[in-house]
Amino acid sequence: MHSHFITKLLGLEDVEITHVEDQITHFEIHIQTPVKVQKCPCCQKETSSVHDDRIQKIRDVKVFEKYCFLILRKRRYRCKSCGKRFYEPYSFLERYQRHTKRLLQALLVKVREYNFKQVAKETGLGHSTVIRLFDKYYSYDNKALPKVLAIDEFKGTSETGKYQCIIGDPVNRRVYDIIPNRNLSTLKEYFRTLPREKIQMVVMDMWQPYKTLALKSFDKPILVVDRFHYVRLNVWAVERVRKRVQKNF
Ligand SMILES: [Zn+2]
Repeated sequence: MHSHFITKLLGLEDVEITHVEDQITHFEIHIQTPVKVQKCPCCQKETSSVHDDRIQKIRDVKVFEKYCFLILRKRRYRCKSCGKRFYEPYSFLERYQRHTKRLLQALLVKVREYNFKQVAKETGLGHSTVIRLFDKYYSYDNKALPKVLAIDEFKGTSETGKYQCIIGDPVNRRVYDIIPNRNLSTLKEYFRTLPREKIQMVVMDMWQPYKTLALKSFDKPILVVDRFHYVRLNVWAVERVRKRVQKNF
């Protein structure tokens, strides 16, 4: 019960927390995932055979103003069909990274307001790591909007709205900018002064203001609803019909 509350609080709903250590300078949250069926990245066959595991320390966002590490028991599975050994995927972690996705998000938000030294101190990441990540993900000085533009939102830490909006270049996997909220008025105002003629395609979820923005503010781009959102809406629609039909029986 307590563990469930903590996982919710931490936004780590697909993992089990085994224990939490409150150190002087930081928290250590020990986590693991339940053993489950995984798809082999090589031959796509299913397996739930654990090969081994090892402990990895991953830096996360601060908790109660204190640095925080996830101590992850990283499981390696073995495919019984082709023999391939592979690490399980995690929703909160990019492959080969030692910081969580949301720490990267926090960093990308903070670099807009603070200098690298302050961001390093705030996130706990090294100065050179902050610069490296900034260079990797931010197209800061490249003010030309990309031909293919992606708009999406994430639950941020900003006080300006529940969701913050991320403008991305999905082809080059870079962040173009981060906007305080996803309201149509904010988005329109943001794009008003930018050169938008080059935008040929906009990738988005089904949040109506994104569509309105793309149709009104850009020059007839192709709109692409990304597969994840499209499939999810279809599943919901089928489910509604199923419930209705079932009621009549
Ligand atoms: Zn395999």
